[in-house]
Amino acid sequence: MKKRVLSGIRATGRLHLGNYLGAVKGMLELQDDQEYETLYMVADLHTLTTPYSVEELRQNRREVLIDYLAAGIDPEKSVLFLQADVCEHLELAYYLSSVATIARMQHLPTFKDKVKQYPEHNTMALLNYPVLMAADILVYQAELVPVGIDQEPHLEVARQLARKFNQMYDTNFPEPQRFATKGEYVPSLSGEGKMSKSVPGSYISLTDDLQTLRKRVMSAPTDSGQGAAVPQDGPVANLFKLVELVQGVERRREYEAQYTSTGVRYGDIKAELAEAIFESLRPFQEKRAEIIADPGYVDQVITDGAVKARKIAAATLADVRQKLGLG
Ligand code: ADP
Repeated sequence: MKKRVLSGIRATGRLHLGNYLGAVKGMLELQDDQEYETLYMVADLHTLTTPYSVEELRQNRREVLIDYLAAGIDPEKSVLFLQADVCEHLELAYYLSSVATIARMQHLPTFKDKVKQYPEHNTMALLNYPVLMAADILVYQAELVPVGIDQEPHLEVARQLARKFNQMYDTNFPEPQRFATKGEYVPSLSGEGKMSKSVPGSYISLTDDLQTLRKRVMSAPTDSGQGAAVPQDGPVANLFKLVELVQGVERRREYEAQYTSTGVRYGDIKAELAEAIFESLRPFQEKRAEIIADPGYVDQVITDGAVKARKIAAATLADVRQKLGLG
């Protein structure tokens, strides 16, 4: 039997370069590998863990699915679906929550960050996020998860829950591993932390036109452009990291050599970087325009994906209910 792969992106906004380099590139690689059966979802249920707008969610779940298609996720090769269409995720999450302790969930750095960001929204759903993510993966018995490095603590939770559940109920869940890409951590444009949809000024959207791209890249903070050593973290390190990811490591080395000798001109570096990003996004943007011209196709992908995903998930749940004494 083929090994299963599961990944998802939250429906909190349009895809950015971090999502693409950290997650979608890995998804594409595995989709084309005959050893794997790939399942990719729009994680719309996870959107409810932080404050959101109903109207925006309705739009975003579809937009993220279109972004997947435009990036090259092929419904002939992968099961592409909306998480909320497969309610088995929620059922398994409830069962898994019976072996998850509150203390473990409260200590996760992602939970602490979100509570700090939204102190009025310290909810059960937020606390339960990693349990639902474990269910997303385990409901398909997925062994490999192409996601960015920020998700590693959540994967550790998934492995622990799988182990504990297997011990207690004699199930046979695999312990899922992360599939890493070169872009597993794409830094924020603002110079601090990672590029994220929920942090304005941090990201480059895959749908940005050249003018917007230039504006975003130009606004990235820098320094005087010259020094005895190249900074290893902070805004300049982030900018050089982006250069490496988009234009290659050679270009980065050239700039670094200039930094410690003649000095660099950030205006030129940024203009060239913006151009290179735009060129790399062009095929995505062209394909996206074709897809949105055919809404019937998108509807069909959503319907077919739900049927295929549900079939696998329902079989898992039938077994789990049995083992829990509920079937
Ligand atoms: P965001 O943090 O932008 O809301 P999600 O939490 O929906 O994005 O993450 C979707 C996928 O994209 C996950 O696999 C995540 O690890 C990956 N990802 C998000 N931001 C980055 C980043 N800056 N660098 C690399 N991967 C990222």
